[in-house]
Amino acid sequence: MVEKVVTGPGPGALSSAGPAENAHNKDLIRRRAAHLGGSMLFFRDPVHIVRGKGVWLYDEDGRQYLDCYNNVASVGHCHPHVVEAITRQAGLLNTHTRYLHEGVVNYAERLAEKFPDKLDVCLFVCTGTEANELAMRIARTVSGKMGAVVMENAYHGNSVLMNELSTCLTGPDSRPVHVAAVEPPNTYRGPFGPHPQAGERYAVLVGEAIGRLNESGSGLAAFLCDTIFDSQGTLEAPPDYFAQVYRQVRSAGGLCIADEVQAGFARTGTMWGFEHYGVVPDIVTLGKPIGAGHPIGAVITSRENLAQFSQTEIYFNTFGGNPVSAAVGNAVLDVFEDEGLLAHVRDLSPYLRTGLEKLQQRHYRIGDVRGLGLFMGIELVKDRATKEPDRQAALVVAELMREQGVLIGVSGRHGNVIKVRPPLPFSREHVDFLLEKLDVALSAPGTQA
Ligand code: PLP
Repeated sequence: MVEKVVTGPGPGALSSAGPAENAHNKDLIRRRAAHLGGSMLFFRDPVHIVRGKGVWLYDEDGRQYLDCYNNVASVGHCHPHVVEAITRQAGLLNTHTRYLHEGVVNYAERLAEKFPDKLDVCLFVCTGTEANELAMRIARTVSGKMGAVVMENAYHGNSVLMNELSTCLTGPDSRPVHVAAVEPPNTYRGPFGPHPQAGERYAVLVGEAIGRLNESGSGLAAFLCDTIFDSQGTLEAPPDYFAQVYRQVRSAGGLCIADEVQAGFARTGTMWGFEHYGVVPDIVTLGKPIGAGHPIGAVITSRENLAQFSQTEIYFNTFGGNPVSAAVGNAVLDVFEDEGLLAHVRDLSPYLRTGLEKLQQRHYRIGDVRGLGLFMGIELVKDRATKEPDRQAALVVAELMREQGVLIGVSGRHGNVIKVRPPLPFSREHVDFLLEKLDVALSAPGTQA
């Protein structure tokens, strides 16, 4: 049985756990099943990681795995500068944001500096879900409307509202009237393919969705979109897509929210994913990589939007932006700047992409290679002509990669896209190692056409 790789929400997510070989793991799985709710395990034979360093993870038997999956440990697992910062601040003080604190203000200033001028205020939260939830509250207050346009198969978090907007969790018939979903701009298998006017055509769908929200009486509060389309299998939108969409959203009185929980923080070769498309959102939401493993999320917006929100709403978060979180956030920014990670991603990503494209020439199963920076999707198909998705092959490849000491994920609407998204301090040697193991996995019986 190989159908046990779990990839997070979406069709690639299957419940585990599989047959653990090791007695301690077997026992842990049994105790987990008895007392731990709501969390699935990756892999048929789940990995028991006890230590991380840089781009490597180690299991309890000392076996090492090249981490090609985790964008949370953006600056590398257990970076000494981050570990030192969290330890120092935890030994000094941890409160909340209602006392003056130099570190918290520094962090807000440094983060805001990384954005276009009009996005100059930060609100701190603890997760990507909370960031999106707060962004929607701001958008609803500023617009005076309730509805949101999201992508089909989107994932934006786990609160009540984010559950409604996470269309990978709900079928079209079970969505509330304030949610309108559109086809993502998938130029490989979407309805308009790579047509020269694909950007405009996909954007028209957003206009139609706004029309549906108006008809339902909800109206448009926001367009909420993950700029790397992670749960859609990693997409590169046509260059004019976001500009066309943002124009329509704004003329309907809505706000444009860029969910940068996945794409943010240099992952795609620009600081923020939206920069690839020449647009400036009204609100940006951040999570995962900005805390390198510590739970930090943030909402960045304009002073005007915040002022309007604050006229009627109060926002407070006990843990969001606390001094320890701020120390971690600042330390992550230090590493990011000192190690030149943005330039590094730009430098390395063509090497990764070219390597994957070469694999595509050798393996008929690879229908498409796409992505930006160090966030790549490799779409597996049974037949290049029909593009029939090959989910089973993707699951087998992920298992075989794990057996060879490389951790990857599977994503997309059909669960057939291999997701490569390593910590940013990845090197050419790591890329070579990944490619070599992928070549072996794709050559194995069961993954070949
Ligand atoms: N937005 C996107 C695009 C995500 O991928 C996720 C999590 O996977 C979230 C939001 C939610 O973030 P969190 O799990 O930190 O609440």
